[in-house]
Formats: sequence, C-alpha cells, structure tokens
Amino acid sequence: MQAMLSKKLNMSRVFTFYFLLFAFSSCKFRQKADMIIHHAKIYTVDDNFSVAEAMAVRDGKIIAVGKNDEILKQYESDSMTDAGGKTVFPGFNDAHAHFIGYAMSLQTVNLVDTKSWDEVIEKCSAFGKALPAGAWLTGRGWDQNDWPVKEFPDNAKLNELFPDRPVLITRIDGHAAMANQKALELAAVKPGDTLTGGEIFVSNGKLTGLLVDNAVDLVSSKIPAPDLAQTKKAVLQAQQNCFAVGLTSLHDCGLDFGTVEKIEALQKSGELKMRMNIMLSDATANYDYAFKRGKIKTDHLNVSSFKVYADGALGSRGASLLQPYSDKPGWSGFLLSSPAHFDSVASIIYAKGWQMCTHAIGDSGNRTILKVYAKYLKGKNDLRWRIEHAQVINENDFHFFGDNNIIPSIQPTHATSDMYWAGDRLGPVRIKGAYAYQQLLKENNWIPLGTDFPVEDISTFKTFFAAVARQDTKGFPAGGYQMENALTREETLRGMTIWAAKASFEEKQKGSLEKGKFADFIIVDTNLMDCNVTDILKAKVVATYSAGKKVYGK
Ligand SMILES: [Zn+2]
Repeated sequence: MQAMLSKKLNMSRVFTFYFLLFAFSSCKFRQKADMIIHHAKIYTVDDNFSVAEAMAVRDGKIIAVGKNDEILKQYESDSMTDAGGKTVFPGFNDAHAHFIGYAMSLQTVNLVDTKSWDEVIEKCSAFGKALPAGAWLTGRGWDQNDWPVKEFPDNAKLNELFPDRPVLITRIDGHAAMANQKALELAAVKPGDTLTGGEIFVSNGKLTGLLVDNAVDLVSSKIPAPDLAQTKKAVLQAQQNCFAVGLTSLHDCGLDFGTVEKIEALQKSGELKMRMNIMLSDATANYDYAFKRGKIKTDHLNVSSFKVYADGALGSRGASLLQPYSDKPGWSGFLLSSPAHFDSVASIIYAKGWQMCTHAIGDSGNRTILKVYAKYLKGKNDLRWRIEHAQVINENDFHFFGDNNIIPSIQPTHATSDMYWAGDRLGPVRIKGAYAYQQLLKENNWIPLGTDFPVEDISTFKTFFAAVARQDTKGFPAGGYQMENALTREETLRGMTIWAAKASFEEKQKGSLEKGKFADFIIVDTNLMDCNVTDILKAKVVATYSAGKKVYGK
C-alpha cells in the first residue's frame, strides 16, 4: 500500500516535470497576439511614467507591456514589428481642435502666413479660377498683424475681382472676417445695422466688408452646408494629415448635432478611425437633441459636453478685459452673451450632469465664467468643467481653478504666436498672468494640451516644443518667453496624452500604454524626452497605429 502510493506520487511528479518543461520550451504554449512591437523604448505614460520595451496587442487593445524577453516568451504573432530601439509614445490626443473646420478649410483658400493684403487678393484670385460660377469662395488665415500695414483692409479689391461670386475670408483667429459686396447682399447686411456681440464696420456711410464676432455669422450662415460626399472627402483627407503628426484622438470643440450624425456614419463604416470627443455648440437645438438622446459613448466617439463662448480673441481685440486694452484706450472688448445666458446654460448643463467647456480669453471673460462655474460646482468635484484657452487670468482669479477643480484647456502655440503683440494689448502687468501654463497646471496638477487647429498648425511637435521651450519655430525669443510658465517634457507628454484623455473622462480607455487600453501608439524617429530641445521640431512620426492597425507609415 505504502509502496503503491509512493509510486503514484512519483509518477505525478514526473508528469508535472515534463508538463512544465514542455510548456516553457514549446512555442505552442505561447499566446497568440494580433501584433507585437519589440525592441522599442516605450514611454507608457502610466502613473509612474515607466518605460517598457515590448507590447502585445489583441482585438485592438494592449494585452501586455513589458521587457523584450517577457513579452517574446509569452506571446507570438504573425505581425512582429522590431522598432530598432526607436521611441514609442501613446497616440497624441489634441484636447482642443476644430477637426471638421480644419477638414473644410482644406477645401478653401489657405491665407495663413500671407504677408500683405495684396497677397491675400492674389491667392483668392488664383483659387477662384477653379471654382464653379457663383460658388462661394471662402478661406481663412489672414492676420493684419503680420503685414507692413497693420490696419484692417476693406473689400474694394474683392468687389472688383468678384462682382458675382460671394466671398468670405476669415481672420486667423476666426473672430473677424472680410466679406465682399455680393456676400453682404446675400446676407442682407446694410450700413447702420447693429447686433449684440458683434460689429459691422462702416466708413463714409459704406460697408467696408469687415465683420467682427457675431457679425461674421450673419454672412457665414448663408454659405450652403456641404453634402455627405463633400464632407467625407474633406474629413478623410484631414484624418490622414492628423495621423501623419501622430494624432489618434482629438476633441472637436463645438459642432451641431447634424455634423455629429455625419461623423457617426463615417465611424460606423470604418472609414473614420479618429477617436473624437465632440463638444456640442451652445444652441437650443443641440441641447434638445442631447438631453433627448443622452450621452454618446462608443470606442470612437464621446459626446457628453457643450461648448460655450464667453468672449472673442485678443488679436482682434474681441477678448473681454477688466480694464481697457493698453493699445486701444477706452476699449475693453465684450462678452459674446449676457452673464444671465452663461448662468442659465450652466444651470441646465449641471442639472443634466453634462460637462461645460467655455472659451474664455480675456481676464474679464475668464472671471465671469469662473464665477458662474463656482456657483454650481461649489468646491471640490469631479465634473471636469473646462475653460478653453484660459488665456489672460487676473492674479486674484487663479485660485478658482483649484478650489472648484475647473480644468484649464490650453494651447502652447498660442503663447508663441501671440507673444509678438500680446504685450501691446495687455501692458507689462497683465501679460504676467497670460499664457501662464505652469501656474495653471499647479491648480489641479493636470492640464490638457491642444492646438486649436486650424487656428494654429496641426503639428504635435510644435505644441511639444512651444510648451517646453516657449519659443516659436524661428527660435524666438532666445531663452524662451516668460519661461517661469514652461512645462517639463513629462508634463507636456502627459498633457498631450493621458491628461487630454482625462479631459473627456476617457483616461481608463486611452492616453497611456497599459494592459486593457486601446493600442493607439506612435513610433517616432526622435526621443522627445531626451533629445536636444531644438531637435524636437525636426522629429518625425515613423508610424501611427490605431487599435493596433497601422494607419500611417511605411
Ligand atoms: Zn477653438
């Protein structure tokens, strides 16, 4: 009896031994992955900011991250990518963009970096030749601050060139535009017309064609909406440009529900792979739609917030300031709606449990919104109500962000684009509270970063560089602009990935390379974390992966 038992035990030991030997030595027991990337330097952007070497992906999600030998021992795949030591980051997420606006802008005349009004006219003239008769000519990007003559132009030359074609060309910040006579006629704008939150410019009793803020909408609302085919062409082209700079997610700040439905259709068909957090615009029809349908959450789409505008932009002096502009005495800009409107939308958004995101540039615009937010949020909370731009903050108002967990959503390239003239607008004291990104970060210890494209370039590397070096692409100014507000590289990378995901309540699904998250990542030819700071601008995306599938790169 004793002997038999002992023999049985021995047999089972022998069996276990061979079983284990087999398991460890044979690849048959390695788990199958859809793809494996190895010999990489993977910045996972997890809580500890840990660096890994290899990653296995299945069904669009990360199933393991770790050292080369660990991953290669446990997983096998028909799709093996040797990164050759290159750097891997989570796919970038632009926390403030106008993707659809950008897509449509690719179908219009690009006036960015034009050096004079004459150059704008030349570009319009060339672009108009390819358009069908009578079709609207639209464009965006001119900035009179870049010209030798910094005064706003008038529409005389446009009227001469395009007597029968309506033309509307928007300033770089989207808050001012030039319309020709034909466009003004179609919109029935007449000299002497007035409206709230906007200005129609007149000289010697005649319309000059210049429209500011809400006045732009009088004309832009007459432009026929693009059909589905036009939208699709534009969107897919825009998506490819975004993949090329490493974006796999973005926030589109202010769309109507009709556009949301078009995006849903393109995502469902699999053509649009960009993951989008869409803020609905502040309009009655959007509130009705949203509260009837409820929040939308799929792998590619999140709709749970509203975008409200407090004021305009600093460049066109539409931002609302507490004291007059330093370069325009007696003028303080204006709010785009009454404080009562901001209060009433905050009240309904709060009651319905949605997220409120408000564009605020001037110190008065920001104070107005901070106070409305604080009234509803009443101290610490996790509703993540956002202020988009948070550009000029009075020194006494920073505490509102931390006290009420209000999230500033910032765009580092705005600092380096505006620095040439922002000091003229604000003077030496107020400018210290402008583009104060490090100070804003300290309020909540996290901050999402974006670009506001097409207002700025879509380039993620320009954002990274502007955040850490506080210089523009020409390397100006030497030593950086208001460097006390620079971000570290780690803060910058977090801001462009995990914190951008957190800004739409999606940090559990994406934003870092951890088990269970979407396999959205990029291979970059330059290690942004330890290269020379000037090399950041030379960095290139080698490949972009969305859900483990290569969407850009060879
Ligand atoms: Zn914007």
